[in-house]
Amino acid sequence: MDFRDSPEDAKFRQEVRAFLGKEYRGEYQGEGDARGAAQIAAREGPAAAERYKAWMRKLAAKRWIAPAWPKEYGGAGMTVMQQFVFNEELAKARAPRPGGIGVGFAGPTIIVYGTEEQKKEHLAGIVSGEAVWCQGFSEPGSGSDLASLQTSAMRDGDDYVINGQKIWTSGAQFSQRMILLARTDPSAPKHKGISYFLLDMKSPGVTVRPLVNMGGTPGFNEVFFDNVRVPRKDLLGEENRGWYVATTTLDFERSSIGTSIAQGNAVDDLITWVKKQRTEKPERGSGNGVAVGLKLELAERAVEAEAARLLSYRVITLQNRGMVPNHEASAVKLYAAELSQRVAETGMKAAGLFGQLDRSRSGDGNGAKDWPPNRGRFVRAYLNSVSSTIAGGTSEVNRNIVATRGLGLPRD
Ligand SMILES: Cc1cc2nc3c(=O)[nH]c(=O)nc-3n(C[C@H](O)[C@H](O)[C@H](O)COP(=O)(O)OP(=O)(O)OC[C@H]3O[C@@H](n4cnc5c(N)ncnc54)[C@H](O)[C@@H]3O)c2cc1C
Repeated sequence: MDFRDSPEDAKFRQEVRAFLGKEYRGEYQGEGDARGAAQIAAREGPAAAERYKAWMRKLAAKRWIAPAWPKEYGGAGMTVMQQFVFNEELAKARAPRPGGIGVGFAGPTIIVYGTEEQKKEHLAGIVSGEAVWCQGFSEPGSGSDLASLQTSAMRDGDDYVINGQKIWTSGAQFSQRMILLARTDPSAPKHKGISYFLLDMKSPGVTVRPLVNMGGTPGFNEVFFDNVRVPRKDLLGEENRGWYVATTTLDFERSSIGTSIAQGNAVDDLITWVKKQRTEKPERGSGNGVAVGLKLELAERAVEAEAARLLSYRVITLQNRGMVPNHEASAVKLYAAELSQRVAETGMKAAGLFGQLDRSRSGDGNGAKDWPPNRGRFVRAYLNSVSSTIAGGTSEVNRNIVATRGLGLPRD
């Protein structure tokens, strides 16, 4: 593959850089993304949420919330490669990238399977950056073996009546809509009796109960359905054919290359922090030398981040040719998720014992809140990275896909 930008892509890269130089004032920096302003408000307060919204409005005005969507649906009609260039440039500037479940996989699935009414009803909210979606697929007994799900949807007149439970539903407490899988024919083989719904989260009978993860954040939820009525117009695709709609969603989900870009940034930031300890005033506990072991480890992380980037290029190249990446997307997901854990471990080593301190939990007496190195980011990244090899498909499942579909090894 030729790694240089085509003349059109190079021109577009310049356009994005000029836009960022002029328009991005660091309105909002950090882990804001996906679950929108409500999540940021809960985590960091209303002022941070307003700054995030201001940035999203600037992107929406350029049609850059979902840049590769067709223009008729509110996108900018960019190629997949241009969208990648766009994401790379935003990442380099540390500007929040639009994304999340709405842009990343609910919207694209609606574009493929939705009726004109469904597209009209849902896509505008996503490209404005306002509507937040969550994904109600996993259940307490169904994760990797998703087709075994038990939540039921029974026809009753013009509605379906939903009963059951979902779990690990990221951002459900901030979402207006859910892409929901439920069983409409319990007597059919497991893949054939499932339907796909676009659920209004305000429907009576929906209860969302946040779960606090080991990093102390309520990132995901249990969601309970007690006789929830969903109108027939909110069925996406055909009744009992929802599994095939869901595989399209999962293809979009696994193709996400955001983690590779994020890991490149995380390694760069870590190296910058380590150098700063050496040349400027070091933070408590870090000393001003760089141990040989740490230097070697940082070099290894830098090489791995580059490998993750190249694996992403492979996926983008396939998508740009109109192909659907399969085991190639699994390889990126697997490698980038495991890399995020190694980068977080290296960060903790670099920070030493003080790395365990988190700014938000260190109290404010005697200047204690200033003690966590790098404002507590090391420990947060370390705790949050643990789930990365489970979310969106576990490492074991992705290794199986690479082994069987990629390497042609037998299934059993
Ligand atoms: C942070 C986070 C966010 C999430 N967000 C969402 C969300 O928004 N929406 C949603 O629907 N779900 C979400 N999930 C759920 C996620 O998709 C599931 O956790 C994941 O698919 C694994 O399913 P499980 O937890 O049921 O584990 P299981 O499938 O029960 O797996 C248990 C263990 O067995 C292994 N295993 C299972 N099958 C095989 C096999 N065939 N071969 C080898 N090993 C196997 C797994 O790798 C794992 O180690 C999230 C999960 C996390 C951790």
